[in-house]
Amino acid sequence: MGQSIFVPKEVDVTEGRVAISPETVKRLAGLGFDIVVEKNAGEQSRIVDSEFEKAGAKIGKASDASKADVVLKLRRPTPAEVKTYKKGALVLASMDPYGNEGDVAAMAAAGVTAFAMEFMPRITRAQSMDVLSSQANLAGYRAVIDAAAEYDRALPMMMTAAGTVPAAKVFVMGAGVAGLQAIATARRLGAVVTATDVRAAAGEQVQSLGAKFIMTEALKDASGDGGYARELTDEEKKAQAELVAEHIAKQDIVITTALIPGRPAPRLVSTDMVKSMKPGSIIVDLAVERGGNVEGAKAGEVVTTANGVKIVGHLNVPGRVAASASLLYAKNLYTFLETMVDKEKKELAVDMEDELVKATMLTHDGKVVHPNFVDTVKPVAKAAAPRKAPARKAPARKPAAKAAAGAATKKTAAQKTAAKPAGASSAADKPAAAKSGENPDGTNRTRKGARPARQRRGERSRRR
Ligand code: NAD
Repeated sequence: MGQSIFVPKEVDVTEGRVAISPETVKRLAGLGFDIVVEKNAGEQSRIVDSEFEKAGAKIGKASDASKADVVLKLRRPTPAEVKTYKKGALVLASMDPYGNEGDVAAMAAAGVTAFAMEFMPRITRAQSMDVLSSQANLAGYRAVIDAAAEYDRALPMMMTAAGTVPAAKVFVMGAGVAGLQAIATARRLGAVVTATDVRAAAGEQVQSLGAKFIMTEALKDASGDGGYARELTDEEKKAQAELVAEHIAKQDIVITTALIPGRPAPRLVSTDMVKSMKPGSIIVDLAVERGGNVEGAKAGEVVTTANGVKIVGHLNVPGRVAASASLLYAKNLYTFLETMVDKEKKELAVDMEDELVKATMLTHDGKVVHPNFVDTVKPVAKAAAPRKAPARKAPARKPAAKAAAGAATKKTAAQKTAAKPAGASSAADKPAAAKSGENPDGTNRTRKGARPARQRRGERSRRR
């Protein structure tokens, strides 16, 4: 086909992941693409250039982006980067567009067709393209590893001739994709695990992983649309806080993962609760980038409180396990790109009516096309002065409140389509893990259905 793919080294120095792997190089070459990977793009993910070359890619430089028909990325390209891309190129990345409307306008002005991977509908067909799940799963794992590293005692019970080391008590708050993997990992390390969630359905999944589910009687079920949580009423929050206050004082490690689509992260652990914990206890707040579940958590920092409790607020947690995260992310991108290739003609063929395309396409043919942004993004000439993109510099983090602001836009027909329940699925369209009866997050629960549009609108910087 002669069409080409370029994979740059991420300009954000805090980003160690890369959007392609030797496995996906081979697969993409099999689809007929010529692949160029920027020198050292896989360095922090432990993929050396020669591995890419062996798989069939060429090693190139940043300016090779100008010739590519497809650019694969982790993070949204900066306006400076996107200016170097070829008009009409497809750009696949985690775009984090809310609060970054100027950059969306810049992508439209550059004439690229940009896809926001985090808007992928959570339907059976798109399971293998779901970057939120693949990265959250690893974040849940890494949260436990980070906690274990900070915890200056052993996690499993050890009965030795010199005495017995008690098992650590781990409490996981929020049992979605990240929480369930945190439970599974803590169990594998031999901890005694309890978990809570506001969705009653999570109880069964928690128990199937060998942990105890804790939920207040006053809160029967706070499931919202599509299997996601709704915000609690003040009364429910009070009941939950009472339950947590009593339980948390006895815990050694607490991992919080609670999120509500379109809202700032719920505050679950108060300063008084932290004060009630023993010195040396660890709290890992995976929701810190969305405002945090824990009072006193600081984004990007490990805070030690006056009573000796450490509150861990690492950013980009999937990036802390970059080599694994890259392999999964690369596969997510490959699986989506494959749906936009005519296999017989061996050329790109984007079906504008495909629900996956409709749900994820941000810009096309010089315009902003995503329904959530058509009214909010100003054309580039009228937009605020273009952000000068300093080379390899971490972008500023946006406050969680912007997610809520972003959620205020209206629902469109395209989103309603994408929000339809997954429906019956054939074995053929499930990834290997699902075929074997196990979900990518390591559980054997069934998928509930698509993420409703209203909720997807709140999806932003969750993985950053
Ligand atoms: P999420 O990241 O939106 O939230 C994390 C967890 O926090 C959720 O389980 C939520 O119920 C919980 N939570 C919210 N408020 C809370 C509070 N006050 N206290 C305690 N917990 C609270 O969720 P997620 O990981 O994206 O998954 C949510 C749902 O989506 C689950 O039902 C999951 O099975 C489903 N899912 C479906 C697919 C699919 O392909 N259909 C893929 C992934 C996940």
